[in-house]
Amino acid sequence: MKYIGAHVSAAGGVENAPLKAREIGATAFALFTRNQRQWTAKPLTDESIAAFKSNCEACGFSPAQVLPHDSYLINLGHPEAEGLEKSRTAFVDEMRRCSQLGLSLLNFHPGSHLKKISEEQSLALVAESINLAHEQVPGVIAVIENTAGQGSNLGHRFEHLARIISRVDDQDRVGVCLDTCHTFAAGYDLRTKAACRKTFSEFDRIVGFQYLRGMHLNDSKRELGSRVDRHHSLGEGHIGWKCFEFIMKDPRFGGIPMVLETIDDSIWAREIRELNAL
Ligand SMILES: [Zn+2]
Ligand SMILES: [Zn+2]
Repeated sequence: MKYIGAHVSAAGGVENAPLKAREIGATAFALFTRNQRQWTAKPLTDESIAAFKSNCEACGFSPAQVLPHDSYLINLGHPEAEGLEKSRTAFVDEMRRCSQLGLSLLNFHPGSHLKKISEEQSLALVAESINLAHEQVPGVIAVIENTAGQGSNLGHRFEHLARIISRVDDQDRVGVCLDTCHTFAAGYDLRTKAACRKTFSEFDRIVGFQYLRGMHLNDSKRELGSRVDRHHSLGEGHIGWKCFEFIMKDPRFGGIPMVLETIDDSIWAREIRELNAL
């Protein structure tokens, strides 16, 4: 079973996200559970939590079909004590909100060394941050997203993901989300069936499909290996439909939320239909 959806708006309250997802014919969705560009957030109210749960049930979304995304400000590999502390506190809050909403996954970008410490040191901090969050919040899986590798962002090599996972104590509560745009921009080709086979077998060898907990389905405005993160609508960018066809036909991508973050939300319903038709 393939679960397909989009990163929908939670404007007016998280409880609106499942309704928005249903409107576009989604069987999965992503959302921010707090303002993604602010450090502080009001706690979720009991009413909002209850409404979210009942809307998810009414619209047929189980926790396995929902992939919340954390704030863009958080850097769990921050080289400086203050930035790291702030990030860790916010990440625990993100995890707690997922737990309150009855959700089991939290998608985040690994972090950035900001050219002040080595990649290795920063990756170790990310893993330590995950361990600390696990200690404080039970039941939520930390889902590391691969990145395009802009600037000093970590996570553009499959080895980075494997490195973090290897340092996490509770490996049942760590996973990976592959973003097709980021994968391609990072230099892994996805333009043909053969290229997809090669890229995903490399992923399987270095990280392992058992850790795959979600996908972001995006085309890329920029070319292979550009290290620039610019999403495009499916089939409109440099990746093309072959990649999405490969994913839809491969059972290794079943049972996980696969979410569009494509640039034109007015065609999400059509993109979901086209994916399902594959
Ligand atoms: Zn992301
Ligand atoms: Zn993404």
